[in-house]
Amino acid sequence: MRSIYFTDEQEQFRAQVARFIAREVRPVGDAWEEQGMVPRKVLRQMGELGFFGIRYPLQYGGIEAGPLSTAIFAEECGKSGFGGFSATVLVHSDMASPHLVNAGSQAQLDRYLERVIAGELITAVAVTEPDAGSDVARMRTRARREGDNYVLDGSKMFITNGVHADLYFVAAKTDSEANGSRGISMFIMEKGTPGLSVGRELKKTGWLCSDTAELVFEGCRVPAENLLGDENKGFYSIMQNFQNERLVLGAMAVGECDRALELTREYVQTRKAFGGVLWDKQVIRQRLAMFDARLQAARQFLYNIAWQMEQGVDTAKEVSMLKALCGELVNETMYACQQFHGGYGYIRESEIERMFRDARIHSIGGGATEVMLEEVAKRSLQ
Ligand SMILES: Cc1cc2nc3c(=O)[nH]c(=O)nc-3n(C[C@H](O)[C@H](O)[C@H](O)COP(=O)(O)OP(=O)(O)OC[C@H]3O[C@@H](n4cnc5c(N)ncnc54)[C@H](O)[C@@H]3O)c2cc1C
Repeated sequence: MRSIYFTDEQEQFRAQVARFIAREVRPVGDAWEEQGMVPRKVLRQMGELGFFGIRYPLQYGGIEAGPLSTAIFAEECGKSGFGGFSATVLVHSDMASPHLVNAGSQAQLDRYLERVIAGELITAVAVTEPDAGSDVARMRTRARREGDNYVLDGSKMFITNGVHADLYFVAAKTDSEANGSRGISMFIMEKGTPGLSVGRELKKTGWLCSDTAELVFEGCRVPAENLLGDENKGFYSIMQNFQNERLVLGAMAVGECDRALELTREYVQTRKAFGGVLWDKQVIRQRLAMFDARLQAARQFLYNIAWQMEQGVDTAKEVSMLKALCGELVNETMYACQQFHGGYGYIRESEIERMFRDARIHSIGGGATEVMLEEVAKRSLQ
């Protein structure tokens, strides 16, 4: 379905991303799942094509487009059918690197941004801890000032790109007296910083080609110039960046629903049973038609929110709705699509089996559905 929101240039951009995924991701994604990572060569290629600088300044190699282009990119990544690929890429482009761009000093931008956009430096964002996920303010990792350094002690959990990233944006408490969300700061931490170690690489249900790690900081010394933004104001930048993160995760889920329905329509049109094909069964085609209707509605909601963001409108409530809606929809869609694939849908070599596993995280990560609905509810009474 065409949308009122996109220019010809944006449609061309969509086609370019789709071509890249058809050529460079789909044919080889299974091997990446085995290897547990997306090869650096591919990330470099994406950097060269400008995919990691969609909203970033021209002077560093970005293309200065807006949230609608971000939505296109994330949706097309979702259509790849490899959630682990999408996670690797979108964490770098839209969840981690925005910390640098939104809060970085001129010197920090000059030092890192060009290589981040080129895909030479891959980024990760480390907020979640073993005892603090949804409730970010409960974090316990501490950073204390010692001369020209900050010294970090603590740990982070479930960090995407955690094993292979070159740059980490790490949240830590700089004021241990401050309550709750106050007293949190963000730091840029380079790979190889003494005192930083990858505790363990975590094995997951899905997203197998995305590396996920626990990070440990033991007397980890970071130069004071690596403080990102203002001291003790990190919570606000984390919350600000969450808005884009929710848009992107919603878009990725929309892409995944699209791919799953496409695959399932193909399958049920050829699978023979009871003197015909499965598509002949009204219950099957109607269930798929209803999922398609829900997908189209979610997609237009996504585009509308991205368009509002382009106008500078505060969409905190709407992106939380979108994240909750799409996180649930993608799981329901995968369940039905796997069901209609029968036994093949339960076998590792089928695409829908992987997509079913990959989708599970959508209602948990990047803001669980319940947490998103709380965000919506508290803004509904204003
Ligand atoms: C594969 C993967 C990749 C991730 N990548 C990153 C990353 O790169 N960087 C990073 O910082 N974090 C990352 N995370 C962390 C992720 O964002 C958190 O797991 C998520 O925010 C939930 O936090 P939690 O796991 O601590 O669950 P908890 O906060 O312990 O919540 C558990 C469950 O309780 C329910 N719940 C929570 N709060 C409420 C509430 N207020 N009301 C009602 N129910 C509630 C929800 O169902 C939730 O799923 C990743 C996680 C995974 C699994």
